[in-house]
Amino acid sequence: MKTQQLGAHPATASDLLPFATRDLTMTSQLINGVELSKTLRQTLQARIQSLTERGQTPGLAVILLGDHPASQVYVRNKVAACEQVGIHSLLEKYPDTLSETELLLNIKALNEDPKIHGILVQLPLPAHIDAQRVIEAISPSKDVDGFHISSAGALMTGTKGFWPCTPYGCMKMLESIHYDLKGKHAVVIGRSNIVGKPMAMMLLQKNATVTICHSHTKNLADLTRQADLIVAAVGIRNVLTKDMVKPGAVVLDVGMNRDELGKLCGDVDFAGVSEVSSYITPVPGGVGPMTITMLLHNTVLAAEQLN
Ligand code: NAP
Repeated sequence: MKTQQLGAHPATASDLLPFATRDLTMTSQLINGVELSKTLRQTLQARIQSLTERGQTPGLAVILLGDHPASQVYVRNKVAACEQVGIHSLLEKYPDTLSETELLLNIKALNEDPKIHGILVQLPLPAHIDAQRVIEAISPSKDVDGFHISSAGALMTGTKGFWPCTPYGCMKMLESIHYDLKGKHAVVIGRSNIVGKPMAMMLLQKNATVTICHSHTKNLADLTRQADLIVAAVGIRNVLTKDMVKPGAVVLDVGMNRDELGKLCGDVDFAGVSEVSSYITPVPGGVGPMTITMLLHNTVLAAEQLN
């Protein structure tokens, strides 16, 4: 694809406009999650080095049950990202027959391990395990996924706590294009605890007017057409098409689906929507890498908060 880099290289991590690139065949600018991640990870590396010099290398424990192919890929990518930036990682793999009691005991041991600052249990868990009980067993000070009820409560009340990585990554992408959310109408499609709801809370905190849509929403297109910003987090290909988008809107595509050829794609009809949006995130190369970057960020934060 023919793209044009806009702007000069950033002087600081908060000056991130260069990650928007223009595809010369369309009106929309791409927000490049791979490039933005590279810059954010460089900043993190300096913080990791400083912690390491003080003998406090940040550590992330990743727990995986079973051999679900997608989960294996996600876990592998998270561990590789840790290695790349200098975070100590511990991968604990168990058969999917592991009992809930054993899993809870393992989490308790990690809660008490001073080398581990963040604990992540890869979801989904096997049906015999209560995922919410497992999440609640993680110490809130090590809840780098931001799924613990105390993290959710902190986000809801605007107090200090870990923000869930995917919506947090979306916020960083908006920051990278200097998008001022004040007074904007944001439509979030999807209301899961890990993406849609926390996304809506983060946007609200930045003074956007937020509409949350879900599978029972009537006239979705009428709502999205009013939006200055649309976040699609559904898991259905082409849930957002060109006719549903106001010209100039910003579109963030969280979805991860496969097209008929088995290629990774998002929830947004990228070709059509990019003809009318002002900014858009691609899939792959958009929100996905940012999710991992924010996991690294939360792990570093967890280590810093102990010092
Ligand atoms: P989820 O728990 O399945 O939630 C999907 C949401 O979409 C639900 O709230 C559902 O409504 C809503 N929905 C379903 N059909 C709809 C429709 N026709 N119109 C409007 N809303 C509809 O999924 P999730 O965990 O939030 O993930 C969403 C997508 O993001 C998935 O593709 C997932 O793979 C992807 N994801 C990507 C990343 C990343 O790093 N890029 C991270 C996490 C997730 P109800 O609540 O009424 O059922």
